[in-house]
Amino acid sequence: MKGVFLASMLWIVAAFGYSLMNQPETDVAEIEFDVAYLSDGFDFPVGIPDAAGYYNAQGFGKNNHLGDDWNANTGGNTDLGDPVFAVSNGYVKNAEDIRGGWGNVIRILHKLPNGEMVESLYAHCDTVLVKQGDWVKRGDPVGTIGTAHGIYYAHLHFEMRSNTTMGIGGGYSANQTGYLDPTEFINEHRSFR
Ligand SMILES: [Zn+2]
Repeated sequence: MKGVFLASMLWIVAAFGYSLMNQPETDVAEIEFDVAYLSDGFDFPVGIPDAAGYYNAQGFGKNNHLGDDWNANTGGNTDLGDPVFAVSNGYVKNAEDIRGGWGNVIRILHKLPNGEMVESLYAHCDTVLVKQGDWVKRGDPVGTIGTAHGIYYAHLHFEMRSNTTMGIGGGYSANQTGYLDPTEFINEHRSFR
């Protein structure tokens, strides 16, 4: 079993590695945020607001992982189809199936009250409930937990980025420039009120 797990880990690294193509990027500076869609704080992307019933199977930095891997406590594929929620108010800059090791990916821009922009990214989704150009509120369902078309046991690969103009990336890297530790960021920004 351990061998299978290690083999699948290597596969994950390889699969992410070869989908390095860039998606067309939205010009972040052109997006006008209505005050109603400015971030008022951040919640976790599953089991809202506190990720109740879920655990982070591979945190930021572990095995050079650039995000968190959220799984239901019940294990296996029991979380397949569970809702994935927008972590904060924001603008959907991409929502598309990019195949490879990524599958369906949703990328949302968030503007903080101080004008700073961050991005949240939800990958391997089974279904996508939003489209590019949509505005979302914190806690809105944006998709469901998936397997990236059967490559993995169902889980949510979730990233947060301080650089909102990067391409899709590789999911794993020793270079964390432009990436945030999602759990740390959310815990430090639960509410701006
Ligand atoms: Zn992951």
